[in-house]
Amino acid sequence: MLNEKPGDSGGIMSIKQVIACDVCGKISENQKGWLMGDTGPEWFSVRLWSNGMLQNKTILHLCSTVCCHEALKDDIAKKLTPVGAKP
Ligand SMILES: [Zn+2]
Repeated sequence: MLNEKPGDSGGIMSIKQVIACDVCGKISENQKGWLMGDTGPEWFSVRLWSNGMLQNKTILHLCSTVCCHEALKDDIAKKLTPVGAKP
């Protein structure tokens, strides 16, 4: 989840990016150490945080490797569940 709010740094228009982890919901303005997850029909990939990737709407925002593991686990579990199967 990506929220943008105007900054208040001396009248100069700036955008502060407040990002919430898609797994645990932790909110931070500093994404140092965060990771990004990206999924496709048959894969799940992880990349180091890159602000340039924030425009990608399918990207998962992950605050830690713990949340990364959770996201991977959930994603793979969904993919391994046959279509039409009851949860
Ligand atoms: Zn998290």
